[in-house]
Amino acid sequence: MSKIGFIGVGTMGSPMARNIARGGHDVQAFDLNGQAVAALADAGIRPAATAAEAASGKDFVISMLPNSQHVEGLLFGPEGIADALGRNTLYVDMSTIAPTVTRTVAARLADKGISMVDAPVGRQQQHAVEGKLLIMVGGAESDVARVRPILDLMGDTIIHCGPVGSGGAMKIVNNFMSITINLAAAEALILGEKAGLDIELARKVMLGTVAGQGHFGTTYPAKVLKGDLDPGFMIDLAAKDLGLAVDFAEALGAPLDSGKLAREKYAEASAAGRGRQDWTALYDYLRKG
Ligand code: NAD
Repeated sequence: MSKIGFIGVGTMGSPMARNIARGGHDVQAFDLNGQAVAALADAGIRPAATAAEAASGKDFVISMLPNSQHVEGLLFGPEGIADALGRNTLYVDMSTIAPTVTRTVAARLADKGISMVDAPVGRQQQHAVEGKLLIMVGGAESDVARVRPILDLMGDTIIHCGPVGSGGAMKIVNNFMSITINLAAAEALILGEKAGLDIELARKVMLGTVAGQGHFGTTYPAKVLKGDLDPGFMIDLAAKDLGLAVDFAEALGAPLDSGKLAREKYAEASAAGRGRQDWTALYDYLRKG
């Protein structure tokens, strides 16, 4: 049984703390919202009067706060816990914050001889309740191994991404991808609608192509990630099809901002002499010019 301080028991932190307590650990919680802490009493989670009390004498201190400034404030603000953390305490920040802030915080803690792991989570509250979060972890091997049994109580997929800060970096890269392609997905369906297509049929068609399947399971490993830039589908042809889409959208009055930006990038790649390379060479072009 480990002694665990859990700071920030909101939407996500509350079910996560419950799962740790259910796993047989001694959990003490602190939140600026005292009611959120009190609501955990039935799980055997003890309240702390201050963040420093929750942090003192623990094997692990976990934070689950909104953003970077909350984590910085928790550690180094006027009532910061950095001095309350013992040298044997592993500090685990599970908030989604800027990886640059994580690295700065970790370095400041390291100066005091305290280790830190960042472990932001993917998925939603329901997964937190079920202990089925995806947890992306950054930290030293030994620290990650030490905290893994605790993380296993909160998630069913634990991925060690590299040194401290890498968990947050992975989460941001992943979210950038899924959030950005959502724009293209929305614009594609609107274009289809304006063209009079059956949207459900369009979705089914796209599930059979890279549009719906994504590049990472299909074209990227087959081509550019192997260093193969020979055209399967060449940049110039992709640019031509994108031009057809942008013109079609203009004629129909459909928004296609993602398409316009993409057209610029494909045109740049073509002007740089990449026109007869595979379309995945866009990645190579954007990296190297
Ligand atoms: P939330 O606002 O519900 O909970 C945050 C809690 O932190 C609140 O109870 C607040 O009172 C407390 N808090 C803020 N500052 C504090 C401090 N200095 N000391 C003590 N307590 C403090 O937020 P959430 O939805 O639980 O999200 C937490 C983190 O998890 C965020 O970084 C969020 O981006 C991330 N996240 C959320 C979800 C989701 O679906 N809600 C999913 C994945 C990741």
